[in-house]
Amino acid sequence: MKSTTTDVLIVGGGIVGLCVAHQLLERQITRSITIIDKEPELGRHSSGRNSGVLHAGLYYKPESLKAQVCVAGAKRLRTWVEERGLPINPCGKVIVPPRAELDGQLELLAERGRANGATVEFWDEQQLHELIPEARTASGRALWSPNTAVVKPLRVVQRLKQELQQLGVRLITAAAGWRVQPEQCSLSLADGSKLTYGHLYNCAGLQADRVAHQFGVGRHYSLLPFKGLYWQLKRNSPIQPCSNLYPVPDLSVPFLGVHFTPSADATPLVSIGPTATPAWGRENYRGLEGIEPAMAAANLALLARQYLANRGGFRRYVHEQAFLALPPLLLKAAQELIPAVRAEHLELSQKVGIRSQLFNHSSQRLEDDFLCLPGPASTHVLNAISPAFTASFALADLILDGR
Ligand SMILES: Cc1cc2nc3c(=O)[nH]c(=O)nc-3n(C[C@H](O)[C@H](O)[C@H](O)COP(=O)(O)OP(=O)(O)OC[C@H]3O[C@@H](n4cnc5c(N)ncnc54)[C@H](O)[C@@H]3O)c2cc1C
Repeated sequence: MKSTTTDVLIVGGGIVGLCVAHQLLERQITRSITIIDKEPELGRHSSGRNSGVLHAGLYYKPESLKAQVCVAGAKRLRTWVEERGLPINPCGKVIVPPRAELDGQLELLAERGRANGATVEFWDEQQLHELIPEARTASGRALWSPNTAVVKPLRVVQRLKQELQQLGVRLITAAAGWRVQPEQCSLSLADGSKLTYGHLYNCAGLQADRVAHQFGVGRHYSLLPFKGLYWQLKRNSPIQPCSNLYPVPDLSVPFLGVHFTPSADATPLVSIGPTATPAWGRENYRGLEGIEPAMAAANLALLARQYLANRGGFRRYVHEQAFLALPPLLLKAAQELIPAVRAEHLELSQKVGIRSQLFNHSSQRLEDDFLCLPGPASTHVLNAISPAFTASFALADLILDGR
């Protein structure tokens, strides 16, 4: 059977795997790079199914890895997108407190944003209404982030893939069912062919913990999938916010709350979401597709324990966010930001994503930051959650530097 050798083997051709390949080339580390992906096309999971928001870096604790890479990564991705003429909407973002007692959180976000190198401004109600006339702030204040933008994530993935292939990166798609022999630095594909590598980067997103476990890495971590459903404003809705409108988030959980996001191109299409509902499978995008009964039962028991112990503000997450997939609750969350939104303005979007949220069984908490673990001749990217899309070029440098 065929046997080939590659300096670097990347498992997973989402934005993280692609950017690792890009930076290996850019930094002239090697040109011998192979990417394998289990799907026939790239962008089938998080990197092609996210909101496309290039975050400005307001949310993250300054000492975190997310903070280190978000602002720089957003600038790099934005430039990359602009240079290629891909769709981008530089519409900024405004954050409002849905309840007056959350006003203090605006200060915290502004402090974190400034520490992370982001530009932020406090606005009063009048300034908010000049941008989005129907928006509401419970405290009379809002936080404006002029550097937030929206792109088309699938277009980014497709273009990056195309450029990498032109530069000689080998891409093997539909490569499910491989087996790895870590001690021999070799991987056998389902067709019997063999790939020998110098170093392997595990960038398998929703499956990254399972891949890591095959190398004996990160055994006390497993992934908890949360489904992100989107609604959208109908084209004939009288309300069409022209900028991102977010609530002040609960910073103890890794979800930003349901928000309004305009389209990256000229289409007047505003999405509302994503929700963060426990999913019954890592790839359970629709109905019964991708359900994993054993994993779902184990995760449900784990979530129930988290609720009872109320670790990491978990009870608040359950009360405020876990059931937002139910249309009346979603509508209520949307009305906290824009009271004039009515049920008849909304329709369910085709878009749905699943977040690969990592659970640490030792600390019994969800991991909040990116996590890269070393393994035998390998590096495992285990928690490439938001803003990994925004930060992808800078995150790839961090991965290559082994931090
Ligand atoms: C609903 C939602 C909204 C989001 N919004 C934003 C946002 O607005 N801004 C932002 O910055 N981030 C956002 N994110 C986060 C962002 O999408 C992710 O952080 C990012 O896409 C992760 O990229 P990835 O390459 O790690 O994973 P993925 O895109 O999931 O790629 C992993 C790849 O690995 C492949 N794979 C898996 N297992 C195997 C295997 N065994 N063998 C071979 N290949 C394998 C998969 O097929 C896939 O192509 C959002 C995420 C979701 C779910």
